[in-house]
Amino acid sequence: MKPLLCTLAAVCLLLTGCAAQQPSSATPSEAASAATLAPTTTPTVAPTTTPTTAPTTAAIKTEVSAETEPPASKPFVLDGRRSDAGDSTDATGFVSLSDVIPDVLLDIRYYSTYNFTGERVRGYEEPVALLSKEAAAALRDVADDLREQGYRLKIYDAYRPQSAVDHFAEWAANDDTSMKPYFYPELDKSVLFDSGYIAYYSGHSRGSTVDLTLFEMANGADADMGGTFDYFGVLSHPDYTDVTARQYENRMTLRNAMLRHGFSPCATEWWHFSLSDEPYPDTYFTFPVSLRSLPDE
Ligand SMILES: [Zn+2]
Repeated sequence: MKPLLCTLAAVCLLLTGCAAQQPSSATPSEAASAATLAPTTTPTVAPTTTPTTAPTTAAIKTEVSAETEPPASKPFVLDGRRSDAGDSTDATGFVSLSDVIPDVLLDIRYYSTYNFTGERVRGYEEPVALLSKEAAAALRDVADDLREQGYRLKIYDAYRPQSAVDHFAEWAANDDTSMKPYFYPELDKSVLFDSGYIAYYSGHSRGSTVDLTLFEMANGADADMGGTFDYFGVLSHPDYTDVTARQYENRMTLRNAMLRHGFSPCATEWWHFSLSDEPYPDTYFTFPVSLRSLPDE
């Protein structure tokens, strides 16, 4: 049995941190079909080209993130119980992204109150981005690549401790809807998590997954992606077609650079990528997001 399939789209936020974006009318089969698009390893849109026509769904094939469906060996929650067999407090394999990519920009939303919960998320003790050394090195290559194209990377989230995922689950069960206008205006909160299973489980907790966007140095502003981080809706799908050609091009610029350097995309979030060859595929880390968690040099 695979209880954690993202059959109810938004539940993926809890399951994986790869929040699936489907309208409330989406059926499980629709959500499933969205998650089974043919994978590809080759970006189909060159990052420097300027689309002259509206993008089509054929222009992009969306690869399903490996974390969409957790392997059976992974800890998961069934009826509120979670196995912690794969948990680790050992941060020796982690680094601060700012030490690896000195010009990286940080907008750590779960440290701030501007996120779907409306409050600082538990476990975010400093507004820093921690990642496995391997993922950070790959992202450095992405940053080097995109800097030549006039961009810097802006990070929304990186390593996410288990306490934060627990916080999300608690929020799912309470009656707060303060941030609905900004993050899930199309959906009723009860629909988001009404699956019968609640998973305390995110690929971000394995330390090689990152949420990010592009910052345009020439404009001094974020690239227009035609949608915002953590928006629960189909417009967050990377291949959503009802965006402008420029917005689509920006999505592809980010996506193609990430794929060139070893990351896998998420079918439902243009901002979410995981290192394909992640170093800790079976480990869920629990140390807080803080420089204090890292080992002394
Ligand atoms: Zn993410």
